[in-house]
Amino acid sequence: MVDQKYFFTQFRYDALQRANEKQKLMLDSEKTKKTSLNLYERQYLGTVGAIALDKNGNLAAATSTGGMTNKMTGRIGNSPIIGSGTYADNASAAVYCTGTGDIYIRVNAAHEVSSIYK
Ligand code: ASP
Repeated sequence: MVDQKYFFTQFRYDALQRANEKQKLMLDSEKTKKTSLNLYERQYLGTVGAIALDKNGNLAAATSTGGMTNKMTGRIGNSPIIGSGTYADNASAAVYCTGTGDIYIRVNAAHEVSSIYK
């Protein structure tokens, strides 16, 4: 166990202040320029998603959120919800979702997309 101060960073605090000033919920990737996917330039930092197909035809999907700033306390994004932000079905497709995930949760987006291919 550590004190809450352990998790404080000036960078994250400043991002929260900017989002509060705009009274806006922001994707963490919004505050960076999206002009390049070169990881070494650190310009686009958002969701990390992966899908895989093994030699036996098994599909897998994984999603790690890029995060949201100024979100409601206790909000859970779509990324960890199977069917919403992440879904895989050997009979159809593997899917991961990025962006503001509230609507993905309401419509169970990853599962719905996968269902189209069945
Ligand atoms: N989809 C995520 C959420 O709504 C944000 C992201 O990483 O794209 O929490």
